[in-house]
Amino acid sequence: MTDRIIPIIRATRATLPPGRDLAAAPEGELVDLRRRRVRDLRISVTDRCNFRCVYCMPKEVFGDDYAYLSRKQLLSFEEIERVARIFVDLGVEKIRLTGGEPLLRKHIENLIERLAKLPVEITLTTNGSLLAKKAQALKDAGLHRVTVSLDGIDDAVFKRMNDVDYAVGDVLDGIAAAAAVGLAPIKVNCVVKRGSNDDQILPLARHFRNSGHILRFIEYMDVGSSNGWCMDEVLPSADVVARIDAEFPLAAIDPNYPGEVAERWRYADGGGEIGVISSVTQAFCATCTRIRLSTEGQLYTCLFAQSGHDLRALLRKGGGDEALRREIAAIWRGRDDRYSEIRTAATALPAAKKIEMSYIGG
Ligand code: SAM
Ligand code: SF4
Ligand code: SF4
Repeated sequence: MTDRIIPIIRATRATLPPGRDLAAAPEGELVDLRRRRVRDLRISVTDRCNFRCVYCMPKEVFGDDYAYLSRKQLLSFEEIERVARIFVDLGVEKIRLTGGEPLLRKHIENLIERLAKLPVEITLTTNGSLLAKKAQALKDAGLHRVTVSLDGIDDAVFKRMNDVDYAVGDVLDGIAAAAAVGLAPIKVNCVVKRGSNDDQILPLARHFRNSGHILRFIEYMDVGSSNGWCMDEVLPSADVVARIDAEFPLAAIDPNYPGEVAERWRYADGGGEIGVISSVTQAFCATCTRIRLSTEGQLYTCLFAQSGHDLRALLRKGGGDEALRREIAAIWRGRDDRYSEIRTAATALPAAKKIEMSYIGG
């Protein structure tokens, strides 16, 4: 690892023109110490996964003897629904189910059915392996959209990335099934690890052009302690855009909403759009409206938070919704996180203090 850790570019989207900045929330709204609202709730429904992506759950760490959470440690669907309801009341507009692999959680469609009664968008991020089988049930339960992770279009590369010999074709079948039942527009996420799968950028772009799906490239992040992250393996989004632009000219497009994490680009010839998520080289903490509920009910105000707030204890203590609401609002009000914005070689968290993505929910 070299010394040139992080952030190469310290630009943040706080400098966006007026109207594209989230910072100014109306008086009386729930905001954190940096005047950010709470808009996106990510709920991890399991810490287990059937893939061993090298950047997330490497086999050496997540082996047969890995101690996953037991069933009774997990939040029940009733408990998750209760927390979600309170968050919606506090301003959340979007709920994303994640993990681990969320489609491994038994009867996930029952949870979706409960959450779909709330006046918010319900989405789910999946590795796609069970999607062909479950797409219809997910749609019937009320899921609005899916995001599918796919780190290569070449079988050999993809198998190296997922490390369980899983073939690309099966994920493509899942994407097709999701599209067929109307879980669209589908976003396809590729984490780019320089030297491992960056040769897949153009083949993926060629494959998904004109498909109606939105391909997005995510910078490899220093989340968790098991992936052995180093800056040399991060390919800046600017390079991703340049590589695609050289073959298919691109034009920048406005965000869909203030604070959108992905930077959007469209193919100049009308072949659709792509996105890049520059979590490392262009931190977006200034407009970060996300909060995460872990599988066992710990609430994290940042992907890099070193500790969570134990909502499960509160839920099981028997207090009413009002007490829970006050507690959650107080947690958000006290939030001051901006890890990616201020991360330097000196302030980067030591690996031992980081929480795994598969636990906290990506
Ligand atoms: N298993 C599901 C999946 O892979 O889509 C959902 C959970 S996964 C933790 C959510 C997202 O986080 C995936 O798109 C994954 O590629 C991404 N991810 C995991 N580790 C990452 C890392 N170190 N840097 C950037 N993205 C990461
Ligand atoms: Fe599993 Fe998703 Fe992590 Fe890959 S990125 S190991 S599919 S949780
Ligand atoms: Fe949000 Fe924390 Fe990520 Fe910054 S580092 S964008 S505050 S989750």
